[in-house]
Parts: sequence; C-alpha cells; structure tokens
Amino acid sequence: MDFNDTPEEAAFRAEARTWLDANAELLSPDESNANLLDERDDPDTIQSAKDWQKKKADSGWACLTWPTEYGGQGKTSIQSVIWNQEEARYKTPPNIYGIGLGMCGPTIMTHGTDEQRQRWLPEMLSGVKVWCQLFSEPSAGSDLAGLRSTAVPDGDDWIINGQKIWTTGAQFCDWGILVVRSDANVPKHSGLTYFVVDMHSPGIEIRPITQINGGQGFNEVFFTDVRIPDAQRLSEVGNGWAVAITTLMNERSSIGGGGGGGGIRDLIELARSVEVDGKPALEQSGVREKIATFYTRTKGLKLTGNRSLSALSQGKTPGPEASLGKLVGARLAQEMAAFAMELQGAAGALNDPDASPQAAEWQDRYLSIPGLRIAGGTDEILRNIISERVLGLPSEARADKGIAFRDIPSGPPSN
Ligand SMILES: Cc1cc2nc3c(=O)[nH]c(=O)nc-3n(C[C@H](O)[C@H](O)[C@H](O)COP(=O)(O)OP(=O)(O)OC[C@H]3O[C@@H](n4cnc5c(N)ncnc54)[C@H](O)[C@@H]3O)c2cc1C
Repeated sequence: MDFNDTPEEAAFRAEARTWLDANAELLSPDESNANLLDERDDPDTIQSAKDWQKKKADSGWACLTWPTEYGGQGKTSIQSVIWNQEEARYKTPPNIYGIGLGMCGPTIMTHGTDEQRQRWLPEMLSGVKVWCQLFSEPSAGSDLAGLRSTAVPDGDDWIINGQKIWTTGAQFCDWGILVVRSDANVPKHSGLTYFVVDMHSPGIEIRPITQINGGQGFNEVFFTDVRIPDAQRLSEVGNGWAVAITTLMNERSSIGGGGGGGGIRDLIELARSVEVDGKPALEQSGVREKIATFYTRTKGLKLTGNRSLSALSQGKTPGPEASLGKLVGARLAQEMAAFAMELQGAAGALNDPDASPQAAEWQDRYLSIPGLRIAGGTDEILRNIISERVLGLPSEARADKGIAFRDIPSGPPSN
C-alpha cells in the first residue's frame, strides 16, 4: 500500500486545484456541502447545479472516466477519485447527477445502441437533462426482481402501468431508467424488460414524499397507460435483469464508502464548547474515551478506503474492502450523531438551527443517516453479500426459484 500520490497523480491534483481555485470558492473549516437527503427541488438550486455541471463539461472536468467518444476524458479511476477529493473541498451546488452519470450513463454505454448513446449521453454529460432511477416498488426493494409494474406491447409502443417508489429526484428529472414486468409466466428474473422513459410523458404522476428531516429527496411515481416507444427499450424483451445488474453494480461502486464516518473534527469542537458537570465536555474522561474510539474507527475506515484507492492507483480492481465502507461508515456516522446530541443536553432534543449548537447539523445528520443505511443495499443485504461473496458461506434459501412469477404465492400480478 502506498497512500502518496505518484508524480503524475500529484501533477493532476495540482491541475484540478488550479481550475477549482479559478472557478469555485474554497469551503471554510466549519462549512460542508449539502448532504444526501437535502431538499433539492428548489428551481434556483437545480439551476445552480446545472450551471456547475455545464461549466465542468465545457472545461473538460466532467465524466473524467467516460470514453472520449461519448464526450468523457478517458481518464483513469484514480484520476477521477483525485478530482472528487479536490472538488469536495470547494463550495458546490448539490450533486443532482449521481444517478445519471454514475448509473444510467454507464448502463446506456454498455447496453444501448449507437443511436441511443448519441441521443442521451451528450445531454446527460453536459447536465442539460437530469436522470432518475425507477426500480423500487412498494413490494420490491431488496427483492427487486419481485416488481409488479407491467409493460404490454402495443404496435411500436409499450404501455406501462404500476407504481414506483423512493425515486430520488423524480420531481425535477427529464429521463428515467425503468424496469418493469413484461411476462409473468416465467420465473421472476426472466420476465423483466428495461426501458428509458421520458418523465414528462402523459400518464406519469409524481408525488413527493416528505422525510423525517423535512426534505423531499424522493417520490412515489405512478404510471397510468404511459406509452414508451420501442426505440427506448434498452434490453432484449425479458432480459431486463441483466441490464439492471449493470446499473446496480455501478450504483454500489458510486455509493461506495458513502457513510464516511466524517465529522470527527466537528465532534471535538462541540465537546470543547459544551459543558458537562461544570467543565467543558472535552475535559471529562468518559467523553474523551468515547471520542478517541470514534477517531480510531474513523481512521480505520479511511485507511481501509485508501486500500481501494491504492489498488485503483496501481490499475487493479478494489477488493472486498470496498463493500465494507457503507456498512461500517453509515453506522459509525449514526453513532457519532447520537453521541453529539447527547452532549448537547436539552438542546440536543431540538432540531432548530437557531437553538441547537453547530446549527443543528448533528440533528439533521441523525435523521438523514438511516436512509443511507437503506439506499443502494440495506445493512442486512450488504451482510448477505459479504457472507456469500467474501466469506464463502452458503447462499440464502430461495423458495421462489424456478417458479413462474404469477404462481409465486404472494398475490396475483396485474397482467
Ligand atoms: C435515500 C434513499 C434513496 C433511494 N433512491 C432510490 C431511487 O432513486 N430509485 C429506486 O428505485 N429506489 C431508491 N431507493 C430505494 C432503495 O433501493 C430501497 O429502499 C432498498 O432497496 C430497500 O428496499 P425496501 O425499502 O423495499 O426494503 P425491504 O427490501 O422491504 O427491506 C425491509 C427490511 O427487511 C430486510 N431484508 C430484506 N430482505 C432481506 C434478506 N434477504 N435478508 C435479510 N434481511 C432482509 C432489509 O434489510 C430491511 O431491514 C432509495 C432508498 C433510500 C433510503
């Protein structure tokens, strides 16, 4: 393992910093950019995110790893990581392009026709069009292949009916990737078809869901006789699962170590500023011990993440440690937020930026992090993956294997 930049990486980092210095403002130590579940449907915020993406695209700093034939820069994964590390140090609008650029784009590159790639990728890269992912349904999340929305052919079109849920950003998106059931007479993974849908199509109704932290990051999306031209089909009929796997693999790698366990500096600052038994909390041995434990775990997480970076830098594929980041990091971040709120005494119970220390950032984190432990694979699903693919333990028993979807005893599908 070597955590230092190579001379080429250092030169690339300097180049990135030069551009960022000229085009964005550095964050001060007590500032951070918006988090995962912030409300993002305010038109000014969306516009500022679009302006920032366009600026990057115009200057060759967008989609660094995309091939040049699709407008990317053909850079290495480690260069992309370096860019992300540098960009995170600057004040930037919320990233509304994670799903499009991180998941939809790579899926279209792998499975789309040339015509589809030319149609969708340039506007995705320059940020003109925003994309969402219409996979989860009320009865299909971890068990995604159990989804029930249907696609029925009608001439050159398909007619879509059903409901999606937890669709991040649907309220401001232009295009969506959609997996639906086209055949209920075959086992559940075999009867799915994958489409791209115009989110402004007649028959689509979007209802924002208000989260516990007050934000409206995601939505319910209802489809009533929505027409999708066959030219927007991304998989063979019935082979949508294979294409969905490409999207999900890209989702896991783009969320990666998202938990981060960040905020240790904020926690130390808080412990310095609040009192416990008439002394600054930081002078209490119990508090110091707890913070030291958080610090050690944060450092362990960071160094484990650095192993993946080191592998990327050497042109290797990161090992299983990459899948541990979200599982460990999200839980650590949640425990730190809970401890910070305890330190605040009565103010810890208030989610009010004017009344709670550090502008109620910890309260907001505490309410947002449970979402992180669910999105892109719940803790339990990640543990299953680790047990099966890393530890080689036997896989889960699957009672619905080999049975036609319509015969699985969980209620009839609608076609
Ligand atoms: C912040 C956020 C953003 C999201 N954005 C999107 C989006 O843009 N598009 C989209 O399509 N979806 C999105 N989702 C949905 C997300 O993919 C699902 O919530 C997730 O897959 C879990 O599915 P579920 O909510 O149906 O829970 P379920 O799958 O019903 O799980 C319920 C509980 O059962 C446990 N469980 C389920 N199966 C097993 C098993 N086999 N073994 C052990 N335990 C199990 C789970 O761990 C969980 O604790 C988002 C979710 C969140 C939180």
